[in-house]
Amino acid sequence: MRIDVLTLFPSMFRGPLTESIVGRAQTEKKIQIHYHDLRRWGIGNYKQVDDSPYGGGAGMLLRADVIVSAIEEVTEAGRNAINGMRKIKDVFGAKYLPYRIYLSARGKRLEQERVEQIARRYEWLILLCGHYEGVDQRVIEGGWIDEEISIGDYVLTGGELPAMVLIDAVSRHIPGVLGKGVSAEEESFSAKLDRKKEYPHYTRPEEFRGLKVPDVLVSGNHGKIEEWRKGNLS
Ligand code: SAM
Repeated sequence: MRIDVLTLFPSMFRGPLTESIVGRAQTEKKIQIHYHDLRRWGIGNYKQVDDSPYGGGAGMLLRADVIVSAIEEVTEAGRNAINGMRKIKDVFGAKYLPYRIYLSARGKRLEQERVEQIARRYEWLILLCGHYEGVDQRVIEGGWIDEEISIGDYVLTGGELPAMVLIDAVSRHIPGVLGKGVSAEEESFSAKLDRKKEYPHYTRPEEFRGLKVPDVLVSGNHGKIEEWRKGNLS
């Protein structure tokens, strides 16, 4: 999967997305993340990206002309790169388009089922991270965004953390990312667990400060263990 991130703060992504599983997935080219500083498309000598809202009120908005130029250029560059890489120009040609998501508190709240669909359906995402009061609504009205996604009913200072959350959650469902023997199939909110929360886990020592592992888990009786686990979904 290719992911293009449009942000005012590309360096925020260093760390959370360069370590551990998601970091390795990029080294192994299972996902390719490209960061684009929105200031590149800023207006004038000062590279202005924001302006005050019509109608007044506090805060600034990211300008539609800046955002749309960024989306269009990144789409064109990505399409050329993908076509060149796969030599598939004739097959996909102009039709090969990214799925464009704006991380927004006003969007639909992200849930596991949608995470799985995104991983399955799209090979290429563009993630737009808002800042200040958000973005000029015409970016959405004009059809430059396919979906608005929220990571929860609270407001963050910018779309960078939500973009990282989305990338992390989606990456786990890309084949090979979790490595051998690890599966995202039987986890909290998975279809296999009826979209419920997973049962609790225990490891050594068998007794810790007077707290014992449930007897059934050390019984060796796999049928009973399965039954206990099913009974402890919530
Ligand atoms: N004025 C906006 C509102 O009331 O909905 C909040 C803007 S917020 C301060 C700035 C940016 O952070 C937004 O444009 C969006 O990209 C991001 N953001 C904030 N909370 C978010 C959330 N819960 N989910 C996804 N993105 C969020």
